[in-house]
Amino acid sequence: MARRNLHLTADWIGDGHDLDPHRLMIALHEVGHLIVWQALPGVRITDVALTGKGSLWSVKGHVSVDWTGAADTEEVGHGYLVGLLAGHAADRIRCEHTGDQIDTSGCADDFHHYRRARWNHKPSRQWSRATILADARRALLANLPRLHRDALRLARTGRL
Ligand SMILES: [Zn+2]
Repeated sequence: MARRNLHLTADWIGDGHDLDPHRLMIALHEVGHLIVWQALPGVRITDVALTGKGSLWSVKGHVSVDWTGAADTEEVGHGYLVGLLAGHAADRIRCEHTGDQIDTSGCADDFHHYRRARWNHKPSRQWSRATILADARRALLANLPRLHRDALRLARTGRL
C-alpha cells in the first residue's frame, strides 16, 4: 500500500506533525464512531483507547459502549448503524482532504457488525446503506473541530 504523504493528515488538521501519522489516521476513525454513539440517549461510552505505532496494521483502536441503558427505539437503532459506518465515513472525509486512497481493510469488523445488525434486527433494514453513510458523514462534518481535537488527543495519549 503506497502512502507517500503521511504528513498530509496533520496538514489537514493543522496540528499533530509530531505524532505517528498512523495513530492519527486510526484516531480519526475511532473518534468518528465516538461522536455518533456518544450523542445517543441512554448510551454510555466506557472506554476509548489506541495502542501501537508504525503502521496501520500495528495501531489498534477501540470504542467500548455500554448499550444496556439505551431503549430499542428507532433513534438508537439508526444511531447504532450510523456510528458503525462513522469510522469509514471519517476515513473518507480524511482521504478527500489529503488525497490519500481510501482503505477499508480496517473496517472489516464494523461492516460485519453492520450486516449482522441488519440481519438480526428487522427495523434496521428500513434504511439503505447509502442513507446511513450519508448520515454518518453529515454528523462528522457538523463536528469537524471536535473530530480533529479528540483525534489529536487520542493519537497523542492513547486515551480520551
Ligand atoms: Zn471502526
